[in-house]
Amino acid sequence: MDLGIKDRKALVCGASAGLGHACAAALAAEGVHVVIVARTEAPLLAAAQRLRALPGAGPVDSVAADVTTAEGRARILAAHPDFDIVVTNAGGPPPGDFRQWDQATWYRAIDANMLAPIELIKATVDGMMARGWGRIVNITSSAVKSPVDGLGLSIGARSGLTGFVAGLARSTVARGVTINNLLPGTFDTARLAGNFAAQAQRDGHTVEQVRAARLAKHPARRFGTPDELGRTCAFLCSAHAGYINAQNILLDGGSFPGVF
Ligand code: NAP
Repeated sequence: MDLGIKDRKALVCGASAGLGHACAAALAAEGVHVVIVARTEAPLLAAAQRLRALPGAGPVDSVAADVTTAEGRARILAAHPDFDIVVTNAGGPPPGDFRQWDQATWYRAIDANMLAPIELIKATVDGMMARGWGRIVNITSSAVKSPVDGLGLSIGARSGLTGFVAGLARSTVARGVTINNLLPGTFDTARLAGNFAAQAQRDGHTVEQVRAARLAKHPARRFGTPDELGRTCAFLCSAHAGYINAQNILLDGGSFPGVF
């Protein structure tokens, strides 16, 4: 299917690896002009080269920046002021016991996983509405819908973003701009490997044991592939998805046990 977004311009954050990179790849393969962002330059440049090599890829630019800082966001937007598509994403906060979290810890999580996406939306949504077309996708987490003890920083910050977006999206769609959230369950990325390693160390198990235990409980008996999430993101950004708005789209292989 032609997604109808060739030559649109997209900002994809957290895109040198994992889920963000998969979103950038799916958009680049549609001929979208993709601007990818991550903090570390060498893997970012390598990621940009991989994207340029995709069949049908449009132009690919990269900006090494921390999207959780005002300075980082300003640098991205100074280089590329007018985006048609924005995919917000950054590293998630660490798991832990809320009794250990002080105010500075909470503010770091809120900055990264709530305020940074809101600031990027603030900087881009009015231009999209003025031009009559736009797509904003926030990568959040299945934990917003299926909370897990120990992920309070992530759930707290991302729930704030989710509530904010639910309000805003109703005021943008009449001007052609949709805002949706993608809620990943368990996806095979470097971050997941890191979480398993931390859990293995905490519980005195091997990483393979932790991984096998998680797989045994998963209805799909596998984790998601970044490509699956990336292509879903590209569809949400497509010309065909203009009536999908203010949604929280769970990609968890059926782990959520409810009907809706
Ligand atoms: P990942 O494999 O660790 O990739 C993270 C990417 O984001 C890297 O390119 C990283 O590069 C970049 N990044 C991190 N912090 C950044 C920042 N402050 N500014 C700019 N770029 C930044 O992670 P992932 O698994 O794709 O996860 C992406 C997001 O989805 C995270 O918020 C995670 O919590 C959430 N999530 C993931 C899963 C899963 O199963 N994988 C499940 C639920 C939620 P640099 O480090 O060089 O900046």
